[in-house]
Amino acid sequence: MKRLQDKVVVVTGGAQGLGKAMCEHFANEGAKVVFSVDLQKGDLTADNVRHAEINVTKSNEIEQFVHKVEEEFGHIDVLVNNAGVTRDSLVQKMDDEMWDLVIDINLKGVFNMTKAIAPLMMENGKGSIVNISSVVGLYGNIGQSNYAATKAGVIGLTYTWAKEFTRKGAAVRTNAIAPGFIETDMMKTVPEKVLQPLREQTPLKRLGQPEEIAKAALFLASDEASFVNGHVLSVNGGLRL
Ligand code: NAD
Repeated sequence: MKRLQDKVVVVTGGAQGLGKAMCEHFANEGAKVVFSVDLQKGDLTADNVRHAEINVTKSNEIEQFVHKVEEEFGHIDVLVNNAGVTRDSLVQKMDDEMWDLVIDINLKGVFNMTKAIAPLMMENGKGSIVNISSVVGLYGNIGQSNYAATKAGVIGLTYTWAKEFTRKGAAVRTNAIAPGFIETDMMKTVPEKVLQPLREQTPLKRLGQPEEIAKAALFLASDEASFVNGHVLSVNGGLRL
């Protein structure tokens, strides 16, 4: 039996990068359907992966989507809150727009998605929520006040939901992954002069690959992690910023 056999899975930001690797891994592990909730379609090809064109900041779009999934499948088993953006700047140069956009997508988006899906999981008595945080949310990073605030916020949500969604005996687990620096499009904006010291600072002496985060997400999403709840899993090659 595959690790996500017949599960209904929702991954935000599934069109590229970490989210795409997760959609592919989850689809290969027997999921009945994996919804990539994303602004763009990307080039996901597996038959059991579907694109849902939704902005995670729009709660009305999310509610309609969840309603449709509930009508068709009756339940949602896994939610990965992965969609995220950066707008980096030193704090004195960070304008309101940069602050608001990152908070809106990376933090409010996680709230919006979870608010719509967690009640369904609780009704069903089980489910797994995986929030994608960051090494930056644990240790901070120069030029990323907005991003660090959201990624630390996501950890607070994880600890809270690990308690909140398990009330009344529901086995709805909430965990987070704090990736280190992973080679995706998000990292293309980071100059090589910043990347090279990060490689050197990482005990494993390299950046991570999207598949390495997808495998960790698969573990937390699956029943293999049935007693893991309220945990923040660092997948960062040993990096401490
Ligand atoms: P990415 O930029 O490659 O992909 C992000 C995806 O999110 C894109 O497909 C994009 O269209 C989608 N998206 C953006 N805004 C959206 C919105 N409002 N609604 C729906 N979808 C939206 O990024 P990535 O590197 O794959 O990062 C994925 C997650 O992992 C992010 O939360 C990021 O903060 C986190 N993370 C990444 C790294 C890294 O080094 N790449 C490290 C730590 C954490």
